[in-house]
Amino acid sequence: MHQLSGWDDTIVALATPPGVGAIGVIRISGQQALPIVDAMFPSKDLVSQSTHTVHVGLLHVDNKVLDEVVVTLFKSPRSYTGEDVVEISCHGSPFVQRQIVDTIVRFGARLARPGEFTQRAFLKGKLDLTQAEAVADLIASGTEAAQRAALQGLRGGFSAELKQLREQLIQFSSLLELELDFSQEDVTFADRTQLKELLNRLATTTQALLSSFKLGNVIKNGVSVAIVGKPNAGKSTLLNSLLNENRAIVSEIAGTTRDTIEEVINIEGILFRLIDTAGLRSNAVDQIEQVGIERSYEKMRAADLVLYLFDVADPVEEVKQWAKGAAEQGLRFLLVGNKIDLASAPLLDQHSSQLPVVPLLIAAKDKTNVDALQKAMVQEVLSGQLLHENIVVTNERHYQALLQVALALADTKKGIEEGLASDLVALEIRRCLQYLGEITGEITNEEQLDFIFSKFCIGK
Ligand code: GDP
Repeated sequence: MHQLSGWDDTIVALATPPGVGAIGVIRISGQQALPIVDAMFPSKDLVSQSTHTVHVGLLHVDNKVLDEVVVTLFKSPRSYTGEDVVEISCHGSPFVQRQIVDTIVRFGARLARPGEFTQRAFLKGKLDLTQAEAVADLIASGTEAAQRAALQGLRGGFSAELKQLREQLIQFSSLLELELDFSQEDVTFADRTQLKELLNRLATTTQALLSSFKLGNVIKNGVSVAIVGKPNAGKSTLLNSLLNENRAIVSEIAGTTRDTIEEVINIEGILFRLIDTAGLRSNAVDQIEQVGIERSYEKMRAADLVLYLFDVADPVEEVKQWAKGAAEQGLRFLLVGNKIDLASAPLLDQHSSQLPVVPLLIAAKDKTNVDALQKAMVQEVLSGQLLHENIVVTNERHYQALLQVALALADTKKGIEEGLASDLVALEIRRCLQYLGEITGEITNEEQLDFIFSKFCIGK
């Protein structure tokens, strides 16, 4: 395809963010990387230097000094892309960087496309597709949890396991195909019991990965939270208490639209996006007409988690009613009783004993128990899963492919149980192989690759 031409070109890009900095790093990859930089670096013959060496010197062009730089050499295949790579660390003036990049282009390189360094690494077999995608995730990670998940992906994560199972499945599929060659003689080469065991193992792995996606999504995109309750319950006060210590940098987070999201907080490495519930604040509870109630439920349903804040002095019956409605609507919610500083102990006991779920009792104003509320929010999200240990699927593309793998596996198993002819079973297995291969990139199409790598930044 047109997009994918030019793999033999030598490419160049600024790998550090554009703008003024202490230093800037310019990266060059391809067959001409060494000769091009060598032509600009008169003090040493770079081409004859060993790989993984660092050289300090002046960078010249047309007898003019451009900058004093540090040049690092990575010779093929021991480089990020698998090709010859040269990294020039120059002074961080955009003008200097620009001059160097322009000269390198003039000497025969071309500007790299977004993600092209990583795409080359993939094409050279240095990374599989999930690892390449993890590189982008790592760059985008804004929390510790996201960083950890991306690093896990970078180290191979689940793809090593999937690859191994896929290989075993390939063996079975070739045995099945062999049976087809001997179809007259009614022989079976592929042990059906073993095949079923393998399918079961694959199904278990697939299911575990699929169910990790919920958490993966949370890690990557955060959890949307709506704080609802009657006027004066203390919603704004609670919002401020939560924000005080946990405010996250919002601009960096992909997919957060400023108009619907008010604030983002980071609690124990998980991002909570406090969604704008302006419409709910005034009338969520006092709705009289049915239409209004429906509408406010709809808004609440858009949130992953609803915090229902009430004044502990309010009638317990009201809270009960709300919780009943919310449960019927399938909302995930926490009941939070506020202003305990003003309440008597018997009143608080009454809440705890009469409500269907034990409420968290806080005083938003002086932050009493707000830390317990934060813990409860995290617990609600993780629901028993550990953030640290398991491999989690954070990528929507992997999730969709895994869903297809699960379906294909189920069909294959059913086929075997029903004594389906070998050729049909082989077909089903090929479907499994197809989807498994798509995850790790063993099977890809160019458009898909272009799409994946176009989301990277230039220079990566
Ligand atoms: P909203 O209408 O739900 O956003 O409620 P606000 O956050 O504006 O709070 C309403 C009133 O309750 C304000 O005067 C707050 O200072 C007060 N308030 C909020 N939280 C507490 C609390 O924990 N204890 C006490 N005593 N007052 C509180």
